[in-house]
Amino acid sequence: MALHWQIITGMVVGVLVGAIAVQFSWGPGIIIDFVKPFGSIFIDVLKMIAMPLIIASLIKGISDLQDISKLSILGKRTIGIYLITTVFAVTVGLSIVNVIQPGKTITEETREQLVAAYGADAERTQQLAAETRDAGPLQPLEDLFAENIFSAAADNGNMLQVIIVAIFFGIGLILLPNEKVKTVKHFFDGLNEVILKLIDLIMLAAPYGVGALLAALVVESPSVDIFVALLWYALCVVLGLAFMVGIFYPLVMKIFTGKSFSFFFKGISPAQLVAFSTSSSAATLPVTMERTEEHLGVDREVTSFVLPIGATINMDGTSLYQAIAAVFIAQAFGLELSIGAQLGIVITATLASIGSAAVPSAGMVMLVIVLAQAGIPEAGLALIFAVDRPLDMCRTVANVTGDATVSMLVAKSVDKLGDPKVKNWDDHYPSE
Ligand code: ASP
Repeated sequence: MALHWQIITGMVVGVLVGAIAVQFSWGPGIIIDFVKPFGSIFIDVLKMIAMPLIIASLIKGISDLQDISKLSILGKRTIGIYLITTVFAVTVGLSIVNVIQPGKTITEETREQLVAAYGADAERTQQLAAETRDAGPLQPLEDLFAENIFSAAADNGNMLQVIIVAIFFGIGLILLPNEKVKTVKHFFDGLNEVILKLIDLIMLAAPYGVGALLAALVVESPSVDIFVALLWYALCVVLGLAFMVGIFYPLVMKIFTGKSFSFFFKGISPAQLVAFSTSSSAATLPVTMERTEEHLGVDREVTSFVLPIGATINMDGTSLYQAIAAVFIAQAFGLELSIGAQLGIVITATLASIGSAAVPSAGMVMLVIVLAQAGIPEAGLALIFAVDRPLDMCRTVANVTGDATVSMLVAKSVDKLGDPKVKNWDDHYPSE
């Protein structure tokens, strides 16, 4: 069975097990004590591999470029395309939310109910966001640079710092004659190979890991009545994300690279499923890299540069969601947003998505900044709390798919898109 079918089977079994467990008073306890830990282990192992992968693959990828001007071309194209897709995603989100107007379906009574139920959670998120906002205007720039490489690499939240150090190190390697640094290059090359092999092994456990995650999610999710009130809002977000993932990315990919939709989806779907189950682009990064390189034919020189950066700064799904959520909250509070205010949302949602960490719920924390900027009550966060987790899962899929698409576009533009090395999962494990 192809890997994506195995993972989907795992997900279905997970949801069923969760749904059966909630029928018994002791069921949720059993799932949380004995099933959820396996899901957590799966995420932990993926996260454990992410930092060494970034270091090894970026250093290797950059040193392979062999000249600084190539790096600069790659850098400009990557950032340029990332920005364009993010602004496009926000615009899609704004269009949908203005046409469907989900906020108008929320009655006064439901609004009060939601604020009562989720007000405390919303306050906690606001506090987290306040820490980001209180910093000076150039704090994000300062935060890019680590004062200690080891402490930076010891915290998965510091991925951008580690990316900068790895790029810097790679530049050093390019500037030295090959004779002097070939041992160092070989080391990182070998390390990269080992890590990619480990990812293959981790993926063998993916169906079980995602099954456990989904079973736990089902038993921990809030009651269905609140979901119904938020259905229109959730539908808007899902519609926008489905458009991006199902139409926009594959279409752009097809136009610029000539590859088919089915080739694209077969290649990337396991990463999408892991993104859905873990809600974290950072945890999914190892899988995204393996799939784009071995199944979509993007050269390692490109994946190693474009994907780690994409996982941390390119979040089209998050920006689309932030735009819809901001306008939804404004509508629910009966506020009219002018065109100027909506253009402001395009800018803040783009920046807020760049600033969002690649971990679960990060997009919601940064949403506070979008709300504050547009003059929308931050307490409105309480309205969308109940459905945030499922939407987080969906937006992470869009984030990861966007990164993979851009890596194909950039690869094509520098003639580094070839035939996939591995056409199907079984090729990793020949039957002999
Ligand atoms: N969970 C998302 C990601 O990791 C970020 C978000 O909360 O939107 O890509």
